[in-house]
Amino acid sequence: MRAEIICIGTELLMGEILNTNAKYISEKLQEVGIDLLYQTTVGDNETRILECLDIAFNRVDLVITTGGLGPTIDDRTKEVVSKYYGKKLVLNETYYNRISEKYNERGYKLVEGAKKEASIMEDSFILDNNVGLAPGFIYENNEKKIIVLPGPPKEMESMMSEGVMPYLKVESDEILMSRIIEITGVPEGQIDEDLKEYFTMSNPTVAPYAKEKSIHIRVAIKGKKLESENLEIKLNELINEIKGRYPSAKILD
Ligand code: ATP
Repeated sequence: MRAEIICIGTELLMGEILNTNAKYISEKLQEVGIDLLYQTTVGDNETRILECLDIAFNRVDLVITTGGLGPTIDDRTKEVVSKYYGKKLVLNETYYNRISEKYNERGYKLVEGAKKEASIMEDSFILDNNVGLAPGFIYENNEKKIIVLPGPPKEMESMMSEGVMPYLKVESDEILMSRIIEITGVPEGQIDEDLKEYFTMSNPTVAPYAKEKSIHIRVAIKGKKLESENLEIKLNELINEIKGRYPSAKILD
């Protein structure tokens, strides 16, 4: 499965906040063997969000959005995604009651935007928000899927681990296994020369990352879940081969 993350929020484009959501989701997608091909960041602008969805669905099968699920005017994601599919937003009573209670507790007047906050797109299935107020959702359209998540990292992360990862584990028939070998005391150029044949392999892949005081070699293998035992054996063989060349090499957890 090929994926794109679309992070929505003008404050991301302004450099006011660091896009940690993209990093988190990218790492999680690797765990389930999903190829992340693109990360896009877009402001809270309907036309441009629609354009991003169009572009994304022309090149990937899975789009994950974050941000813009709140009650304010510039929280547009749910409306725009619904518009993209020609669907309605449907109020979720449980979430609406929960949001009303929160407003009451805090002594706030219930705003109209709370309805939008408590809604999900028709024909989608809900992703519970156990940390904040706005639910997310998953919608499947033929072979393509969209997953709509909130912006606040704590909410997004909890929804990813409780709702999205179990879903993606079932949906993806692939798995990616990877380990990092850390090598110290050997210059980068030497490692490059020693391992150059490994660096051009396509599966498994071997890639070097220069760190401040060491070199990290990431060894990864991808394949069908059904073959995971064989994949693990191949991966370990390759790791031992590389590790055997350098006395200082150790595998990081
Ligand atoms: P809320 O209901 O709080 O408005 P939301 O789903 O509408 O949530 P946004 O309004 O887009 O989300 O973002 C709320 C906050 O979440 C931002 O101010 C920022 O602190 C954080 N946030 C949003 N997107 C990201 C991101 N991609 N990476 C890291 N933090 C983010």
